[in-house]
Amino acid sequence: MCYHRPFDFSRIVSPAVLVADLHSHSRASDGLLSPAEVARRAAANGVELFALTDHDDLGGLAAARAVAEQSSMRFIDGVEISIEWGGLQVHIVGLDFDPRDEALNAGLAWIRSGRIDRARRMSAELEKVGITGCFDGAMRYAENPSLISRSHFARYLVEIGICKDMRNVFESYLVPGKPGYVTHRWATLAESVGWIVGAGGIAVIAHPGRYKFSRLQMRNLLDEFKNCGGRAIEVISGSHSQDNVSQFSRLAREYGFLASCGSDFHGPEESYIDLGGTMPLPAGLAPVWDAF
Ligand code: AMP
Ligand code: MN
Ligand code: MN
Ligand code: MN
Repeated sequence: MCYHRPFDFSRIVSPAVLVADLHSHSRASDGLLSPAEVARRAAANGVELFALTDHDDLGGLAAARAVAEQSSMRFIDGVEISIEWGGLQVHIVGLDFDPRDEALNAGLAWIRSGRIDRARRMSAELEKVGITGCFDGAMRYAENPSLISRSHFARYLVEIGICKDMRNVFESYLVPGKPGYVTHRWATLAESVGWIVGAGGIAVIAHPGRYKFSRLQMRNLLDEFKNCGGRAIEVISGSHSQDNVSQFSRLAREYGFLASCGSDFHGPEESYIDLGGTMPLPAGLAPVWDAF
């Protein structure tokens, strides 16, 4: 989704040549296209290495892989796990794991089991400010009810004319301190990394530039993530500014993290950056695919 203005990637010299997109969403979570359509679009856009990383769910992987295998694009199993750290919602991407792993599947099922209750609480809070029918309205946008997310609420609030676009809905209603935001118990950092690593995968901190942490908190997050077995960080993300790219390139080097790259594409109407549309990784960083 389009949270930041695009920036001039051409200032980054000697990028790696591989066109990789290791962060994307389908209707299996809060994206707008089916898993097969996302994979088809990635291949059509010239992506060579692609991961579908739906929120807290592996249900789209088989269909996306089937499409990818009919093209020359290499497919990597992915997921984006919702956790709570430092009082905020943080996302940990898992890549290249065994999607049949029992502990991973059980952990994701547990996270999904909390989403409907949270959605009811969000709806009750929005009712207090006079916006009715949000639970049912948001549910109409969710293909999988147990994956009901703030994105589905945002689409409904735009539909009924409360805000003009997704960005405004989030800023006015769906972030901490706003009427539709409720706290929720997500997984822990250690649990999420443990599930991914236990399934043979690589844990990646998603879009670190989006978290409103102090420098010290960010370092604490990176330390704890590394101690848990985390190995990679998204340096390039569809939601990163140029400053974010510089900052997280430095931190990736300092911590010895592999660097990942993904658009965080949710749909053609909502995402500013298309599949494969980000800049390649800056030169001098170790790409996460070296470990696949
Ligand atoms: P949830 O997992 O239900 O908390 O929903 C989080 C999702 O909301 C993210 O994965 C994004 O797709 C979307 N999102 C979060 N913040 C924003 C924002 N500021 N503007 C648009 N979409 C957002
Ligand atoms: Mn999302
Ligand atoms: Mn995310
Ligand atoms: Mn995402």
